Amino acid sequence: MPSEASVPQVTVLAGPTSVGKSTLSRYIRATYPQVHFSVSATTRPARPGEVHGEDYLFITDHQFDELLAEDAFLEWAVVHRKHRYGTLLATVEEALADGKNVLLEIDLQGARQVRNKLRSAQFVFLAPPSFDDLVERLIGRGTESEEEQQRRLETARIELAAEPEFDVTIINDEIDRAARELIAHMGIELTTNA
Ligand code: 5GP
Repeated sequence: MPSEASVPQVTVLAGPTSVGKSTLSRYIRATYPQVHFSVSATTRPARPGEVHGEDYLFITDHQFDELLAEDAFLEWAVVHRKHRYGTLLATVEEALADGKNVLLEIDLQGARQVRNKLRSAQFVFLAPPSFDDLVERLIGRGTESEEEQQRRLETARIELAAEPEFDVTIINDEIDRAARELIAHMGIELTTNA
């Protein structure tokens, strides 16, 4: 229905730890600029190469507390029992008011909060081709300590079981194929600069 297709909407992309959500997000940012990402706030320190305002808003615990007190978050969560991450309501509202379809790349806890608050959002689960593939990605990345890897593996098992809660599952088998499938679900017509 043409009238519905023109209403900007929120798409939530979630999935297990290390399934490749952030790699897919980076790829989409670089290749399909018509997709608008919500930039989350986090108390996690920036990794080398990450840019404040592009990858995340890197803020202090105190600043996060202030935003919480202002009720500024659409959703927020402590991820991997460590750092806080949150989607700012104003960021999403501004994008929608601008007529943009917004993509939220967040964790499962956050996705559940959005489901309760924003009935119109659609929920996409990014799944690995297999559990073994997921374990390989998790260990292969090698940027986290062993303790952190165990923590993430445990989270991944719980998160994989959440797939039925989602509207759509996309298998992250090949990055451009997965990106195109996601973008098609967002109702965005593709013009590529690749
Ligand atoms: P990383 O620290 O590797 O960038 O992200 C860790 C996890 O935090 C990923 O699963 C990512 O989806 C999640 N995340 C990033 N931003 C947000 C957010 O705004 N809210 C929630 N709930 N999770 C987020």
